[in-house]
Amino acid sequence: MAVDGNNILAESLKKQGIEYVFGIVGIPVIETSLALQAAGLKYVGMRNEQAACYAAQAIGYLTGKPGVCLVVSGPGLLHCIGGMANAQVNCWPLLVIAGSCPEDHEGIGGFQEWLQVESSRMYSKYAARPPSPRLIPLHVEKAVRYASAGRPGVSYLDMPATLLTAEIDEDKVPLDYYNAGPIQLAHPNPELVEQAADLLSKAERPLIIVGKGAAYGRAEEAVSKLVEATKVPFLPTPMGKGVVPDESAYCVSTARTQALLQADVVLLLGARLNWMLHFGQPPRYAPDAKVIQVDISPEEFHNSVKSEVAVHSDIKPFVEALSRKLSEKNFSLAPTSSWWQALSEKQKKNTQFVEEQASSKLLPLNYYAVFKAVQANIPRDSIIVSEGANTMDIGRGILLNNKPRHRLDAGTFGTMGVGPGFAVAAAMWCRDYAPDKRVICVEGDSAFGFSGMEIETMFRYKLPVIIVIVNNNGIYGGFERQVMEDLQASGDLAQCTPPTALSTEVRYEKMMEMFGASGHLCRTVPEIKAALKEAVKVTDRPSIINVLIDPQASRKPQAFNWLTESKL
Ligand code: ADP
Ligand code: MG
Repeated sequence: MAVDGNNILAESLKKQGIEYVFGIVGIPVIETSLALQAAGLKYVGMRNEQAACYAAQAIGYLTGKPGVCLVVSGPGLLHCIGGMANAQVNCWPLLVIAGSCPEDHEGIGGFQEWLQVESSRMYSKYAARPPSPRLIPLHVEKAVRYASAGRPGVSYLDMPATLLTAEIDEDKVPLDYYNAGPIQLAHPNPELVEQAADLLSKAERPLIIVGKGAAYGRAEEAVSKLVEATKVPFLPTPMGKGVVPDESAYCVSTARTQALLQADVVLLLGARLNWMLHFGQPPRYAPDAKVIQVDISPEEFHNSVKSEVAVHSDIKPFVEALSRKLSEKNFSLAPTSSWWQALSEKQKKNTQFVEEQASSKLLPLNYYAVFKAVQANIPRDSIIVSEGANTMDIGRGILLNNKPRHRLDAGTFGTMGVGPGFAVAAAMWCRDYAPDKRVICVEGDSAFGFSGMEIETMFRYKLPVIIVIVNNNGIYGGFERQVMEDLQASGDLAQCTPPTALSTEVRYEKMMEMFGASGHLCRTVPEIKAALKEAVKVTDRPSIINVLIDPQASRKPQAFNWLTESKL
């Protein structure tokens, strides 16, 4: 029997274990999407390729298998490029598949013709166009392997219209290329485990940093046991939150600056010493701090600072081996140690500041009061999606994660506009794997604007995402209505409208009315509580809770002006 490129592609993806596809169809991939559904894959049609690409990479992070993003040629693929870069930078598995114009139209101005493989190369680990229908399975296998193996990342497959429709005898297509078993975890060199245990057990002020590599590596049980047994303070990175519960007594997020500044030995588990961790350098770390770095990607070693011990290993087997060694040494940090006492003191002080802000009775609300109300009224162990500058930064400390891979945010690339796409993916995952779990998407008003139309996708697929928009009329900060009117009356609109401003008191919750439902507008804590109570009851559509806050509200003053500090 004859099969065409579309069916070969669909069947090979299925054979490689792909489960979800997010995309937007058009020429030449409409038939492709139908073939994918016919092969038993789940296809979610989105409203913007970038959001589809974010959704596909979030499902990759959540499931450990790459999600597919399916798009049309030229502009369709180009709209994905930001998403591909985000996945590469986050080290998340993703497979992008784009249709492209018929090969005999190339070079003569084909419809949406573009150098797609070349354009993708910089944003992926592997980018190729299968040369014939018979070789589609080979390239699918390779693309999935590259996206998932070692440090995860992006693969791109280019599918010309001529390839998608080309037919070939079914018997000539090896669908399950190689039929190889899963790649085994990389185990650590025992000598390095010994060195790491030695260094850690002799430290006076040890600190464990838990990154999203540990979350991706499913190391939660091993890392939690290590922390519990050694009582070493730990700091999660934003998406490392929940590998060990935020509520653990050993979590020192509330004394983060001090913990980094004074640690003498840092055990780095699946995190990079990039901008998020202040490059591991002074003035944010002690000049003689020693780093034990554990990563699946040896290219990462000694990046930014030289590691004292660099262990090429999957997090899980390393941490298990380290725990055994440390228990042989009977190592455990005393709660009465001066290190714990210094940290606890700082934790108390910082917690008190947050408590005061969060309990403020002033209106309009500040961020802290909003997040306290959200945290108190959402189901435990919800997946938190979050973005927006202040919204994400302040929310991170108050919205707790006690389960791994339960926080999705702007990530290593600091990308705004990821929220709705991530939330669609997370809600699909919940429906299939954790039906009682909820997705709470906490967005700044600016961040929400990038992909707000995905609310239609959520309605179409009946995804009960609760979107909380923390609305301050702008980017970072906004302006009050009267201030904005006065400013705009003072001259040419394009010269006197502040670039950080958005329209004031926008009624985002009214987007619900487009679908015959209604949203929630809140200005007070009791209103937030009531809105969340209602929203939690709704299980077959999204909800929007629009919280108008003080446009001037901001963050606790920081000890370091770190995003712009420079040594040049
Ligand atoms: P964070 O944003 O939490 O600091 P990063 O994305 O900077 O985390 O770093 C994650 C690191 O984890 C990357 O260097 C990646 O190579 C590594 N990594 C990913 N999966 C694993 C794994 N299973 N075992 C070990 N390291 C991993
Ligand atoms: Mg804002």
